[in-house]
Amino acid sequence: MANFDWTSRFSPLLRYLEDTDQDRWARRLEQQLAQRFDHQPHGDLDRWLSALDSLPELTDIDASLDQSAVTLRSPGGLTPEQHNSLEKALRGLMPWRKGPFDFFGTYIDTEWRSDWKWDRVSPYLSDLAGRRILDVGCGSGYHCWRMLGEGAARVIGIDPGLLFLFQFLSVRHYLGNVPVDLLPVRMEDLPDDLECFDTTFSMGVLYHRRSPLDHLLELKGTLRRGGELVLETLVVEGPEGYSLMPEDRYGQMRNVWFLPSCDTLLRWLDRTGFRHARVVDVTDTTTAEQRSTDWMRFNSLQDFLDPDDPGKTIEGYPGPRRATVIAEKP
Ligand code: SAH
Repeated sequence: MANFDWTSRFSPLLRYLEDTDQDRWARRLEQQLAQRFDHQPHGDLDRWLSALDSLPELTDIDASLDQSAVTLRSPGGLTPEQHNSLEKALRGLMPWRKGPFDFFGTYIDTEWRSDWKWDRVSPYLSDLAGRRILDVGCGSGYHCWRMLGEGAARVIGIDPGLLFLFQFLSVRHYLGNVPVDLLPVRMEDLPDDLECFDTTFSMGVLYHRRSPLDHLLELKGTLRRGGELVLETLVVEGPEGYSLMPEDRYGQMRNVWFLPSCDTLLRWLDRTGFRHARVVDVTDTTTAEQRSTDWMRFNSLQDFLDPDDPGKTIEGYPGPRRATVIAEKP
């Protein structure tokens, strides 16, 4: 069993937490990382580690974090051997769901066009330059890189999916010591009331929470006074007060609990103590935005919709529609 040296991987972040009066969080995180990697390692950990270890070493790297694909370039170019070992390593981290990425000319066409979400959300944000940002349910960290591209001072993404961590580390492998980290923990695993972030994102997570109001309260607890919440979630049409709870699966997804109307979502934010909550975007998710690709070969949205009525999920519910809401913590 390979050993994942999480202590050295996470030591810059642990030091940062200690330096910013977050010792409580640092100590809890060490316990959680030991639990994840030493006591109960994931069955695929060896495979992911060897993929990460086989990424070719390259120097003089340029990163572009302000265009649709998170892009890495090496002015000297890669030898054919380096290209092959790069592609092999990245294939070892399939399925790739959130992106896209361009690793030195190897384009990872991910299941999701996460850049489209960023284009819908980013025009409405307070300037991210210099901000401390938490991205809850960050997936591979694609949006974390885009946040750094907009000048964020520090970005911490959290997502319990371990493959996402290794996809994230494959990018960071080429960027060295940048102020972006991905922690393999759940929202519920963070200490309560951190009150240290300027902006907290929760995109694509709320409907996975059995208790959405508690999720909103937890998010509020992460923000400093005056901090900004960016919430993106599935919604349905309907009056204020209405929300849909699927009988079982929704678009084949398990663990989908509440799909509110936009007005209900605004009410939830109001009742949980946010201010100036406003819906800035509502968009139907199409099979152009979420689809199977060469880098994610399992079923995707097209297989989860009613073949006779693509406006409905296979279970007969309204098809996926997402809203973005921005609100402030008073
Ligand atoms: N934010 C990204 C990914 C959304 S997919 C985007 O908008 O594109 C939802 C993610 O939330 C998944 O990666 C899942 O692992 C994560 N997630 C689910 N429950 C969570 C929880 N309780 N805390 C943190 N992340 C969670």
